[in-house]
Formats: sequence, C-alpha cells, structure tokens
Amino acid sequence: MYKTKSNSCRLSNITPNNDIIFEIPIICPNCGFSLQPIIVDHRLLTYSSTHRLLIISYKGNCCSTPFYATYEYSDLKATLLDIFPHLKSVTIPKNIKEMSPRFANLYEQSSTAEQNGHLELAGSGYRNSIEILIKDFAIKKLHAPEKDVCKMNLYDSIGKYLQEVNIETSAADVIRVLGNDYTHYQRNYDDIDFVVVKKYLEIFIQQVETKLLLMEPIVPTNRQ
Ligand SMILES: [Zn+2]
Repeated sequence: MYKTKSNSCRLSNITPNNDIIFEIPIICPNCGFSLQPIIVDHRLLTYSSTHRLLIISYKGNCCSTPFYATYEYSDLKATLLDIFPHLKSVTIPKNIKEMSPRFANLYEQSSTAEQNGHLELAGSGYRNSIEILIKDFAIKKLHAPEKDVCKMNLYDSIGKYLQEVNIETSAADVIRVLGNDYTHYQRNYDDIDFVVVKKYLEIFIQQVETKLLLMEPIVPTNRQ
C-alpha cells in the first residue's frame, strides 16, 4: 500500500492532447519524506496485445534522488502497481531488541505506519519509542530505580541517561520536536518535525547501542 494522491495531467509522449488519470506517490521511497514530486520522464511499454505498462520517473525536492512508479495503463487511466525502490525496512541492533522488545515492537509498528503514509501515527509512535528506549536502558542496564525513571519526562531522561547527547546545545530543538509530558494532545507532527524526530531517534539508537556494546563486549566465538 502506498500513500498517493489523485492526479490528472497530460503526458507529452503518450497523450499530448488528453489528461491521464493516475495516482502520484507522496512519500519519497529514498528518504521517507513526504513530497510533491515532479515528473522527470515517462515511457509506455506494450507487453501484450491487451496490456500496457506506464513507467514514470519522479523526483522530489527532499533528497533529489529519482524514483520510479509502474502503472498498468488503459484508456487514459493508469493503475499504480509498484514503486521502486521500496521503502527500507527497519533494522534495530540485536542488543537493543533484546534489551527492549517493547521499543523494537513500537519502532516497527511506527515504521509500518510511516510506509503506509500515516505520518501522524508514525511521528507519535517514534516519539514514544524514544522514551521507551531510554527508560528501558536506564532501568534495565543502569539499574536506575524504576519509580524515579517513570516519573521523569523525556527531556530530563535524555539528559540524565545519555550524557553524550549534548542536551544543552540542542535543548531548544529537542523540546520543540519531542515536547514535554503535557503537550502531546496539542502536537502536530508536521513534515519537518517528523524528519527531525527520526534523526534524533537514529542518534539515540546509536548511543544506546554503543553503550550496550561497551557494557557487554562481544566475545569472539573461538574464545568461548
Ligand atoms: Zn527523498
């Protein structure tokens, strides 16, 4: 399933005088950003007496990397079949998955929501998953008292348990993007926030993964 919007326009190589109706993708499969893509090129291929394939290449102003959509074409209508490349699947480091299955589960659900274009749901899922990741790390690995950790807001827990993240310099940004415990109801995860939330999440995953590796070094199999 792809997030698309209806469109009709002329495609110069195929129907210079008539509009073709088709769905255009609105999530860039290269970077996950939502976009208003422009059509770079298009081709119509005949693959049987009754079937024709329309291939359109698009580019957005997100990462400027082209992507391609394949349609089945007939009578000025094109039905979307596939988009290439496919959205990347999530890879969560093994040590994080083992430490916090709840984080891994929510992250994967958020990623599925994102791939289906449910950005509001994905944004709030990613934000909550950051909190679970850091709090599970604090409780399970740093042995911080659970009752204290649960009471902390996300901003404070990042500052306390991930000291490498320079919370002082990025404070305004972190608060703007992640909010505090009382603002979720009013939050709108617009496109910019969404990308920044994901970037922070990437940073936090890396930080926690590194800390876990240093706490529990990998033992080569030939020494076990
Ligand atoms: Zn992009």
